[in-house]
Amino acid sequence: MAAMGPAGPIPDRRDFMSLTDTLAALQAKERSAVEVTQACLEAIDRQNERLGAFLHVEGNRALKRAACVDARRVRGVEVGPLAGAVIGIKDNLCTTFSKTTCASQYLSNFRAPYDATVVQRLEAADAIIIGKTNLDEFAMGSSTENSSYHPTRNPWDPQRVPGGSSGGSAVAVAADLVHAALGSDTGGSIRQPASFTGVTGLKPTYGRVSRYGLVAFASSLDQIGTLTHSAADAAVLLGVIAGHDKRDSTCVDLEVPNYPAALDADLRGVKIGYAAEYFGEGLDETVRSAVLEALDVYRAHGAEVVEVHLPHMRYAVACYYLIATAEASSNLARYDGVHYGVRAEHPEDVIDLYCASRSQGLGAEVKRRIMLGTFSLSSGYYDAYYLKALQVRTLLKRDFESAFEKVDAIASPVAPTTAFKLGEKTEDPLSMYLADVYTISANLAGIPAVSLPCGFDPEGLPIGLQMMAPPYAEDRLLALGHQYQRLTDHHLRHPVLA
Ligand code: GLN
Repeated sequence: MAAMGPAGPIPDRRDFMSLTDTLAALQAKERSAVEVTQACLEAIDRQNERLGAFLHVEGNRALKRAACVDARRVRGVEVGPLAGAVIGIKDNLCTTFSKTTCASQYLSNFRAPYDATVVQRLEAADAIIIGKTNLDEFAMGSSTENSSYHPTRNPWDPQRVPGGSSGGSAVAVAADLVHAALGSDTGGSIRQPASFTGVTGLKPTYGRVSRYGLVAFASSLDQIGTLTHSAADAAVLLGVIAGHDKRDSTCVDLEVPNYPAALDADLRGVKIGYAAEYFGEGLDETVRSAVLEALDVYRAHGAEVVEVHLPHMRYAVACYYLIATAEASSNLARYDGVHYGVRAEHPEDVIDLYCASRSQGLGAEVKRRIMLGTFSLSSGYYDAYYLKALQVRTLLKRDFESAFEKVDAIASPVAPTTAFKLGEKTEDPLSMYLADVYTISANLAGIPAVSLPCGFDPEGLPIGLQMMAPPYAEDRLLALGHQYQRLTDHHLRHPVLA
């Protein structure tokens, strides 16, 4: 370990398990895939009991696949772009080789009959998928405390949450248990945990990455994305998972740019939008100043900061929690005790079977959302709530469209605060919902957004900067992130692990 900074040490290159560094070391044959996989398994062994990042670890399979990659490399056979890199994936991505529980008791024994497209693409690129990470049940939550198995703890302070719902994936990266991870983001579930744990989290444009095999929460908002140590790492990983898939009709048939090649864009002349709507009441002072300092960094290197307005932003939380719950109530109707998963014993009739199976198998937050969504879709309320929310969603989308006529990207905080304490918000769902205030509008508008580490609060907890861009401009976001990470070292700081 090298120099100690104000908030966590910066490890030297050997310890720093960035995806790109690891791939370079593997390619140069300085390390073997078996060695790096073994190192990750040992780290998981040491840390997982305390941090709870993983729900299932497939160590033997991972080592076998790593040995195959090594053997092919030794024989001089061509290997894929992620050959030997160790990846953790959120447990709402279907895998045939491991259970897919969505952190729900309902699916405690569910094994999917197929692999998600992203899983197939990772493995076709010779990545080593080491296991499935913890989440809020069915990805509903902002702290990973809604997992029906165990919470995940923040490696920067184990008394605090890692954010959610992709808390397990964020912690797996932050604590160096893997080189990179995949999560899903319906309202902030990649970006908010990334900001709470000091890693880089990218939610691509809706339609950029196939959702085939992602267990549906809110289908018009869900998107798979990356959790990594840096924007450069995200560029490599996104390049592998993005692109058309005929098995997801919402996945667009657009060429996938060479993301790593786009990282070196110049900051001079770039216009970054500042919207006062993102800096209002409820925003923690230290978060505000860290984000404004990040904007100063961009400005000092030639970017221009331009004021924009998003007048409908203030309806985003209400709009999201109507649309997301409505879609969830419909998507989760499949958990009926008949098809798969938990089946209640000795039901009196079929209605009793449905009721008892759902009551026993689903957790409190999931039930709350099913009830909220069913209510807003029911006759007499549909027009007043659900339809109204769809209209507001269009207005919000137009806000972004007109803002992006003036600027290349929009900057904001990721979350109003740094990581909160376990248990602090569990009794108050509304305050938990408000933690998503800055992230959900990107999902409602379908645009890409990234969370970049931009500083630490006085207690040493990471702070995230959000950058949003027009549809399919992930390359621009990654370049903005990479340039910022060349000028700063927040993303290099690591938590000190016990
Ligand atoms: N926190 C938000 C929610 O609970 C977002 C979750 C997500 O993105 N999956 O709905």
